Amino acid sequence: MTTKSAAAATRGTVHGYPRQGQGRELKKAIEGYWKGTVTAEALQSTAAGLRRERWQQLADAGIDEVPTGDFSLYDHVLDTSVALGAIPARHRAAVAADPLDRYFAMARGTQQVAPLEMTKWFDTNYHYLVPELGPGTVFAADSGKQVAELREALALGHAARPVLLGPVTFLLLAKPAPGVAAAFQPLTLLDRLLPVYAELLADLRAAGADWVQLDEPALVQDRTPAELNAAARAYRELGALTDRPKLLVASYFDRLGEALPVLAKAPIEGLALDFTGPAAGNLADLAAVGGLPGKRLVAGVIDGRNVWINDLGKSLATLATLLGLADRVDVAPSCSLLHVPLDATAERDLDPQLARWLAFARQKAGETALLARALREGTGAVTAELAANRADLASRAASPITRDPAVRARTAAVTEADGRRPQAYPERAEAQRARLGLPLLPTTTIGSFPQTTELRTARADLTAGRIDATGYRERIEAEVREVIAYQEKAGLDVLVHGEPERNDMVQYFAEQLTGYLATRHGWVQSYGTRYVRPPVLAGDISRPHPMTVDWYGYAQGLTDRPVKGMLTGPVTMLAWSFVRDDQPLAETARQVALALREEVVDLEAAGAAVIQVDEPALRETLPLRAADRPGYLAWATEAFRLATSGVRADTQIHTHMCYAEFGDILTAIDELDADVISLEAARSHMEVADELAGAGYPREVGPGVWDIHSPRVPSTEEAVELLRAGLLAIPAERLWVNPDCGLKTRGWTETRASLENLVTAARRLRSELAG
Ligand code: GLN
Ligand code: ZN
Repeated sequence: MTTKSAAAATRGTVHGYPRQGQGRELKKAIEGYWKGTVTAEALQSTAAGLRRERWQQLADAGIDEVPTGDFSLYDHVLDTSVALGAIPARHRAAVAADPLDRYFAMARGTQQVAPLEMTKWFDTNYHYLVPELGPGTVFAADSGKQVAELREALALGHAARPVLLGPVTFLLLAKPAPGVAAAFQPLTLLDRLLPVYAELLADLRAAGADWVQLDEPALVQDRTPAELNAAARAYRELGALTDRPKLLVASYFDRLGEALPVLAKAPIEGLALDFTGPAAGNLADLAAVGGLPGKRLVAGVIDGRNVWINDLGKSLATLATLLGLADRVDVAPSCSLLHVPLDATAERDLDPQLARWLAFARQKAGETALLARALREGTGAVTAELAANRADLASRAASPITRDPAVRARTAAVTEADGRRPQAYPERAEAQRARLGLPLLPTTTIGSFPQTTELRTARADLTAGRIDATGYRERIEAEVREVIAYQEKAGLDVLVHGEPERNDMVQYFAEQLTGYLATRHGWVQSYGTRYVRPPVLAGDISRPHPMTVDWYGYAQGLTDRPVKGMLTGPVTMLAWSFVRDDQPLAETARQVALALREEVVDLEAAGAAVIQVDEPALRETLPLRAADRPGYLAWATEAFRLATSGVRADTQIHTHMCYAEFGDILTAIDELDADVISLEAARSHMEVADELAGAGYPREVGPGVWDIHSPRVPSTEEAVELLRAGLLAIPAERLWVNPDCGLKTRGWTETRASLENLVTAARRLRSELAG
């Protein structure tokens, strides 16, 4: 790249890049290694090839400084645990001989030992492995992976910057190891951890690192003064080291807030800030602290989490302001590009007009480089590119795909009353009791039944054209018949059709709604070798035809017992998709809600007395900063109510969420005004029932009594005991009996045994209560 002019220092860089390769070669190699069909050497050579390819792609896109160490065979937080020697004793012992097997043992467990716990990476759909620490943890630097990857990149002639998770975030993400008191705070290990970081930094310096990036995304969350002090201390100490590379501390996903002055004052050489979405406030905050005199600012002006082209003009305006606030301004996406698919040009089936609006990782790297060039050489050097960008943005804004007048008219006409059931809950409850005539402690399931190989084969056969739509329908109908017959025989009270026709609870609806777009190769890593292909909310949403009514009708026609209509709620439809960046999320949610409302009303007209609208993502989409939560919860709950409030008093609305810790959204759960809510509770021993009761929750609750995440079959006694615990909090008239979540990942054998025990448990308690 040729550089000239006084602003020559500006570079384009990225924090991280997708790992899998265009054909998900990494997944294939790793899973092959697990199966024993790929050797360790072959796996490592595939990995090295992919790293080389990623760097080359970045260089070809015009990126001046590539990241190293962000590549991972499973997860970068796990890599950090290994680099710091934070390896639980059970994994050390398990496969002591081989570091690679030990690594995968930590990630996935073995026959003998449990893996590390996995949880969501901030508010993304990526999952990391939670470090386990205790007062006895002894850290030890293991810079092998970081050093090797840096050397690879340098040998290929790239300017490279190692990226690793910073000490404060590492400790804040960790949890007490099994057997350690729950009150143990990993952050108390900071003083012990810093010398290990010092060693890693020295090793990287010795291997040729000019800069090292330490990621501290945990600092964009609300932090206590003690935590902010820890951050100040960490970077004061690391900054004071003599044998170290220059330090770039990176934040992303939200604004740094009160951590900004802390890092601005720290003796580090650079700071990476996100200036997109909720983090846009960083701009004013940065001006308020007087900028970063003498420091390098890596400006995240391109949204690293959506799939849309950047508004280059707008980013240039932001960069122009930033130029006055730091010594040197570099351009980057807001966060690692791990969260977007690799290459939009692979989507050859898309409408070419629409394809021009998309930017995946490769395209975002190109945009980054272009902006850097504009800063270096002046906008005159990129006039044609800027004009093309303006034309693409204008075509998107004016397109009938993004502006459907009928949808706009409907959302504009929504009133507060549309989002409220006309009758108060007591009146509804009475009408529903009369219509449904259910016993005390009614039994039900959450929706899906085991997704058998036959079902997956049927779907693959349909896609490949080996069977036609009729043939596919026949196979699904046979499955529904079996599921209904089984539930009748098992004695369940409210039945489900089993969701055999659904590939995925979001994709199934996205495929049928106008305005949603499916990609062919748009894979993003969810965890380890699991990749998902989220649909894209591209335009205004409408429902051209009913989506579930036929299947509901078929199932209900087979039985006299009520069958639940089963839908995915608006918040989850947004959370597990790529959302629009050209209108507020609340607006998109309202469009989806209105489409679902039509479906709910149609299900009711088709005879459904019970309709369940799942919202498992309500909590995970909660903004990172508490101050932003009320606003989010207001539109999220409104969207749910809008979807569900078009029904009569005697139609029972259920919702379902799959988590047990939801203390911070209790009020929001109440605000949904669902008649019945089912939740995960088995593992936490019905704690949720207590919490709901404590908050005065007035409606019916089904705290799960079967942990479906494990193949274990709960005994009748166990279910009875859990239900007794539930009855202490929730009166029998308002308690349901159900599993924690859907059964799609379970086998039929344990499903039969568990459901039979659940029904027996409910019957036993019913007769006790009657006696
Ligand atoms: N109805 C869905 C099912 O049973 C709910 C899944 C979920 O909560 N994630 O599969
Ligand atoms: Zn669930």
